[in-house]
Amino acid sequence: MTVAKRLYELQQIDLDIQAKQEALGEIGRQLGESASLNEARLQLIAAEEHLAALTKQQREVEWELDDFGNNVKQLSEKLYAGKIKNPKELLGLEHEVGTLRSMLKQREDKLLDLMSEVEATQHRVRHEKEYLQKLELEWRQEQKILAQRQAEISGQLTGLQQGRQALASIIASEALGIYEGMKSRKAQVVVRVEQGMCQGCRLTLPMSEWQRAKAGNLVQCSSCGRILYLG
Ligand SMILES: [Zn+2]
Repeated sequence: MTVAKRLYELQQIDLDIQAKQEALGEIGRQLGESASLNEARLQLIAAEEHLAALTKQQREVEWELDDFGNNVKQLSEKLYAGKIKNPKELLGLEHEVGTLRSMLKQREDKLLDLMSEVEATQHRVRHEKEYLQKLELEWRQEQKILAQRQAEISGQLTGLQQGRQALASIIASEALGIYEGMKSRKAQVVVRVEQGMCQGCRLTLPMSEWQRAKAGNLVQCSSCGRILYLG
């Protein structure tokens, strides 16, 4: 096997390692808390707080209604008991009962509005809860798959790194040095030669370079410096 071929294979492994590391990075970003899940939790809390406030308001109006009801009852009894003879006093009492009745009516209307709002909010809380449960379930499944994928890729990465180490150990250190030196600057350090052309820079190689490479020597393209691999 020529040095160029070994370097070419090393490059394939390095590209594979890079792809796996990027995949692991992406998984790392997806693992953990999710923004949509947090948002759904906040929505549920907001709906529950709104419901609690409405329920409290409803209770207060119910108490007020009880009070007004009792007052109207007492005044009405007084009014119709026939003990008050003074017309002015009777008129005043009638007026008071009338005012209380209209306030009672107001509170009743308010209670009806509140009850329908409570009902709508209960519906919203149920909906938010179901939505959150659905999201949590999906999230757990997704996290499980991601964790499995993470373990799988980590295993593959270890295998690739071991393979790389074994391959690198049988490549002459000078050739390895050239490859490593260029790796950070070029995506492809070792390139194929096709129809006499360097596939890195697309220039036709001088015959002498091509012949030296064909003879198994480590040859770098005189134009772009990449290591030539004849395949
Ligand atoms: Zn070239």
